[in-house]
Amino acid sequence: ILDRDEPVLSAEFVALGRELAERLIAPLYRVYATMLPQALRPEGELWVRLSRKDEPLFLLPDEEAVIAHLRAKGEVPLRRLRDAFSETPDVVENLLRLGYLETFIRPRRAHPVREELVARRVGDADPAEPLTPKQAKVFERIRSGGEVPLRLLEQEIPGAREVVRALARRGLVEVYPRESYRAPLLPALAPEPKRELTPAQAEVFARLLAALRGEGDVLKPYLLYGVTGSGKTEIYLQLIEEVLAQGKGAIVLVPEISLTPLMVARFTARFGRRVAVLHSALGVGERYDEWRRLWRGEASIAVGARSAVFAPVRNLGLIVVDEAHETSYKQDETPRYDAREVAELRARYHGALLLLGSATPSLEQYARARVGHYHLLELRERIDRRPLPRVHVVDLRLDVGETEPHDEAVSLARGAAGGGRGAVRATGKERRGLGGIVLSPFLLERLEERLRRGEQAIVFLNRRGYTPVVLCRSCGRTVQCPHCDVSLTYHRAEDVLRCHICGFEMPMVPRCPYCGSPNLVHLGLGTERVEELLRSYFPEARILRMDRDTTSRKGALEEILTKFAEREADILLGTQMVAKGLDFPYVTLSVILLADLSLQFPDFRAAERTFQLLVQVSGRAGRHNLPGEVVVQTFRPDHPAIALARDGRIDEFYRAELKVRRAQNYPPFTRLVLLETAHVDMRRARDALARIVEDLLPRLAPDTVVKGPMPAGIPRVRDRFRFHALVQYKREPDFPLRLRRVLQEHHPRLRQDEVDLTVDFDPQDF
Ligand code: ADP
Ligand code: ZN
Ligand code: ZN
Repeated sequence: ILDRDEPVLSAEFVALGRELAERLIAPLYRVYATMLPQALRPEGELWVRLSRKDEPLFLLPDEEAVIAHLRAKGEVPLRRLRDAFSETPDVVENLLRLGYLETFIRPRRAHPVREELVARRVGDADPAEPLTPKQAKVFERIRSGGEVPLRLLEQEIPGAREVVRALARRGLVEVYPRESYRAPLLPALAPEPKRELTPAQAEVFARLLAALRGEGDVLKPYLLYGVTGSGKTEIYLQLIEEVLAQGKGAIVLVPEISLTPLMVARFTARFGRRVAVLHSALGVGERYDEWRRLWRGEASIAVGARSAVFAPVRNLGLIVVDEAHETSYKQDETPRYDAREVAELRARYHGALLLLGSATPSLEQYARARVGHYHLLELRERIDRRPLPRVHVVDLRLDVGETEPHDEAVSLARGAAGGGRGAVRATGKERRGLGGIVLSPFLLERLEERLRRGEQAIVFLNRRGYTPVVLCRSCGRTVQCPHCDVSLTYHRAEDVLRCHICGFEMPMVPRCPYCGSPNLVHLGLGTERVEELLRSYFPEARILRMDRDTTSRKGALEEILTKFAEREADILLGTQMVAKGLDFPYVTLSVILLADLSLQFPDFRAAERTFQLLVQVSGRAGRHNLPGEVVVQTFRPDHPAIALARDGRIDEFYRAELKVRRAQNYPPFTRLVLLETAHVDMRRARDALARIVEDLLPRLAPDTVVKGPMPAGIPRVRDRFRFHALVQYKREPDFPLRLRRVLQEHHPRLRQDEVDLTVDFDPQDF
């Protein structure tokens, strides 16, 4: 247990918090809360007690019961009080309104530390009273083991608990509680031996080693631009060995929770319990325990998602950001920090090395490396010159004159353009119906081949659920979320409609909720429906689906990954979670079912994202001895993001995309700040933002551009209308300061009008 008076924020974090609050224009307490594990957060819970107001003369029986309850208990959490009187829901609210009860905030208690009973030797056996053979065995085990948990002892020697009690009575051992850690679950992976570095790896490693040893520059970050499977992770592992030898610690960031278990498993195989895991899918208690192990220096390597950048590693020597281009490093709620920026600040504070690794750096990172803000290191080939997989682009379009029954398939994707050169074509005859369009004959053939050879495939589609749209054929409307401007997704297993924005859920409707017609059709497809189609084509195949729906249960993700790793499944189908980082030797095919989904995003980064996705998904196949293949299905085979990714012309893509960005004044040529207001009343949200923009404009440099106010991409979310203003600014170092001043002036009015305002520097999705 942490000492009550021991500060949980070190001097480094106190300063870091201030700096972030200032840069992000975020409340300081929110920043500090983000830095700590939930168990230690200073946030509080609403509690209730009797107020000092005079007792009412007349009370209803329900009200009397509540007051009697509080008189007996003193103070209770409001939530608990409501539960206790849930049969008379208004009674608590009425008493609060009348002023007989009052609320207050009580800081949440730190999550309890778990203890377990251990036994330890305290005396020696008296020869006059010899031990029974079983007692001797248990005593010997305790003597040689130091502090032995009773739980473990009982497992090794059944009945040991009883024996220990007897030994304790004789004064030979003592039993007492000791703090124990809850160990997070990890997928079972065969331990990976340390490898001898290839010459290309060795060259990169030597530069980084020199930096770690103080013979190279650590003021600037290093960008390791290495193709998928080029051995970046092996380099991280060996760098950490050096860091540990120097008596220092390291942080390794991975982009998604889904990747953490595998990465952690690789690191634990090398470094055992010196590794601590930190990510949001852990239980509050587990997370707190891992945090304490780092805090105390018992673990010195933190591996985890975004928030692990705040890991309390002592004497930090190295921070690795793997897949450094990933947008999940940016937090999308206040404080909207970027873990890469925080990593830079922490590395500077400790004089530590910051290493960004990626096969597909973001355009900003690529540009920074080109102008020398980063040291650039490259790995252009896979380990052992294993070839990058061959990419087949399947053109899903029909030729003119070719017909297809007018059915649901039509709406799979909209916006086809360009010609079909160089892409695999299937004839219309072969592609009839939905199955044909989702799983082209070309793809089916490739999948079948994998099944025949006992190899594995990864299939990617970035949409969960069964169908994203339910359309009424009579009135033409789609079934919408009542609280947000999006259509509800049908989930077949539970037969419900669900909003993927706010979580609203209702049973599937038999009739159109707007006109009452029974003519409802399902449009489009999600992973759940693809799973069903795959099963109908390949009844004998073993298919695993990995998306937010199948991994919400604790431990489910680890189970799926373990099964796939042990080849108990042939096809791993899933969303974003399967697209990157996975490293399985028998995967020889990876598939993007519909590349158009990411191209359609109304975002200036759509091409970059699509390109990265293609390269990353391709990177999953053929990483070991078996050669790999990739199938990309699309309606836009000639889009540069697709065509250049197919041919591996990475630098060409970057150069072309930089030109587009320059022409449109987007990053890396400008920096962006997104201002958002939200209110249930549309006009209030818009007017508040208009006033801010009006005040801001005269205080900006002439080449700064402000777009908006305009409705957000999804105008209404959770019953609130949202407006955006996008600021594109160039060299204005004091811009955040000026913006903060304007916002401060507007604060009282915003407060009064109850308009929510958010400020997002370097926004990712909007
Ligand atoms: P990346 O992180 O760049 O995608 P990895 O580090 O995962 O690449 O390496 C790809 C595969 O090659 C892994 O299975 C890894 O174990 C193996 N590997 C890495 N370095 C070596 C090496 N020097 N010799 C042999 N195999 C290696
Ligand atoms: Zn209708
Ligand atoms: Zn909703």
